[in-house]
Amino acid sequence: MFEQKTLRSEVSFQGHGLHSGKPVSLRVLPAPPNSGIKFVRTDLNHHLIPARTECLGDTRLSTTLTRHGIQVGTVEHLLASLAGLGIDNAQVELDGPEVPILDGSASPFVEAFMEVGLLRQESLRDFLTVLKPVVVADGDKRLAVFPSNDLRITYAIDFPHSAIGYQEREFRVSRSTFAEEIAPARTFCLYRDVAEMRRQGLALGGDLGNAVVVGDDGILTGSLRYRDEFVRHKILDLIGDLSLVGRPIRGHVVAFKGGHRLHTTLVRRLLEMPDAWALSAGRESLPSQVVRGFERQKAGFLPGQALTA
Ligand SMILES: [Zn+2]
Repeated sequence: MFEQKTLRSEVSFQGHGLHSGKPVSLRVLPAPPNSGIKFVRTDLNHHLIPARTECLGDTRLSTTLTRHGIQVGTVEHLLASLAGLGIDNAQVELDGPEVPILDGSASPFVEAFMEVGLLRQESLRDFLTVLKPVVVADGDKRLAVFPSNDLRITYAIDFPHSAIGYQEREFRVSRSTFAEEIAPARTFCLYRDVAEMRRQGLALGGDLGNAVVVGDDGILTGSLRYRDEFVRHKILDLIGDLSLVGRPIRGHVVAFKGGHRLHTTLVRRLLEMPDAWALSAGRESLPSQVVRGFERQKAGFLPGQALTA
């Protein structure tokens, strides 16, 4: 786990963007050590957009990266797939403005990456270890990261809809928990919001095959993949947004009713506070009393009790 990794060979995907509705071909290629994740718009002079907070653009409903006025949208499920499998370096080439939505989850990316396999590289991974809590809030939505020796996520949502309601879930994010418990969870929306989203030019590529659509009387898109698929998808989105730190994080993120805007606000706030973290090759760990010292503060952060995986 301490060496950087890339893909053994390239992987291709065809599809269309969730929000733009535009068809797109995307290739993910191996990349050298210490190069990180970079997007390349092959339709616009091979314009390069690194997956870093400096390139953050619009965060309504999805996460967009932008550099010199050129953008790539809905990057979060692909970024989560790379981060969740521990892929540090990759070049993502696409010929349109938005990553394809595929089935609305990260599983198509994860399955394709696992099929070609990962290559260990000679450089060590540089972990960002959280040393003290960082908290952000927006109304009753709140998000915090606490010291931890691995990446843990506890997420709770509370939707005023009987098909969703209050859901809470906690995972220690490893390659296997990501692939089996998080990646298959699909994006979702309420049917009553669709008309307004389309009026704003969003969700133009959304259909019953790439999202869980919740109607007034229940789910319109068949059975769920998990009883709590909704909160698991929020965890998937968060893993993608956290990867904009540019290196693997060791911290326990606790979230209540977050979204892309608050996720990326936490990433920015964390990076603005260099005394709240340290970089290391990851072999050394925090003393357990430091990690345990925040249990009380963590426990008070969410209204309910976590279901631990
Ligand atoms: Zn999502």
